Amino acid sequence: MVDVVIVGGGVAGISSAIESQRRGLKTILIEKNELGGTLDLARKIENLPPLLAISGKELKKKFKNFFIQNKLNFLKDEVVEIILEKPIKIMTASNKTIVSKCAIIATGQKDIMKKEYIDYNKFINSLSSLNCLKFKEKKVIVFGGGDMAFDTALNISERGGNVKLFARSFFKAKKILIDEAKKGGISLKENMAIKSIKKEPGEKTSVYFEGMNHSIKNEYFDFLFFCIGREPSLPKIKSGGRDISLKQKKILQKEGLFFAGDVISGTNRNVGVAVGSGITASIDAYRFCIKG
Ligand SMILES: Cc1cc2nc3c(=O)[nH]c(=O)nc-3n(C[C@H](O)[C@H](O)[C@H](O)COP(=O)(O)OP(=O)(O)OC[C@H]3O[C@@H](n4cnc5c(N)ncnc54)[C@H](O)[C@@H]3O)c2cc1C
Repeated sequence: MVDVVIVGGGVAGISSAIESQRRGLKTILIEKNELGGTLDLARKIENLPPLLAISGKELKKKFKNFFIQNKLNFLKDEVVEIILEKPIKIMTASNKTIVSKCAIIATGQKDIMKKEYIDYNKFINSLSSLNCLKFKEKKVIVFGGGDMAFDTALNISERGGNVKLFARSFFKAKKILIDEAKKGGISLKENMAIKSIKKEPGEKTSVYFEGMNHSIKNEYFDFLFFCIGREPSLPKIKSGGRDISLKQKKILQKEGLFFAGDVISGTNRNVGVAVGSGITASIDAYRFCIKG
């Protein structure tokens, strides 16, 4: 049996694992993909004191190396279910069961797909493919008006893409990002609702937007990204045979299940917040373990 299992190896999970180990807890971190999580999707992090501006990719490398240097226990696997018993049981996709006094969930968020857009799924590029694609001279549409939409538009534009950003309502992104996008010559349009997305005769695909005055405008694209929101990405959590939701966070903490990072941040997605909440979750886990 271990003292604490950390599920998810993004910045929140890594920060939790290091703090837990330093406190003498027998710790294991389980990550289904790559250590460092989704940080490499961020173009530039310039709000993590005392670091100067650094790309998400570079910062991810630093977190990964920090984890490796600290010689932490790591299992590459996917957690599919957590059973809240005493002790807690963590079930993985490769049929392993890990038994632990407590657990920290740091599984981040996943893209939201709203019902009204489900039919268009086949045309939409997933954000996780961002670093695998080549954008030079490609027509790219980013749909969304928040920080992630602007960061993604800037990222693609700096890699040679011809980017147009459309938001359904007004821009909600930080001013600094909107200013940078304007300076970078990215075409920006507010109040543009998607009417349809379809293949045109030939090989082109286009999005039809409806503006405020009901005017319809179509735009061809090679790549289309939706940045319209994220939601917690969670494994199943069961207690007494019943599914448990994140809303019961306070009860879950009493049973030794803690949360860190984007999974509980709502729209406050931020590296500093993720690191801080990762460390806080380990302190809570430590207190839980010594109480017995
Ligand atoms: C485009 C973009 C731009 C951003 N810009 C900024 C910025 O400028 N400044 C800033 O501070 N923040 C920024 N952020 C936010 C910041 O990157 C995140 O807040 C932070 O990286 C979240 O870390 P996390 O560990 O909570 O989650 P994640 O990085 O999402 O890590 C979660 C990990 O859990 C793993 N996982 C999920 N489910 C399971 C499972 N069942 N079993 C095992 N493993 C699992 C995933 O594979 C992933 O590696 C940006 C984010 C994006 C996407």
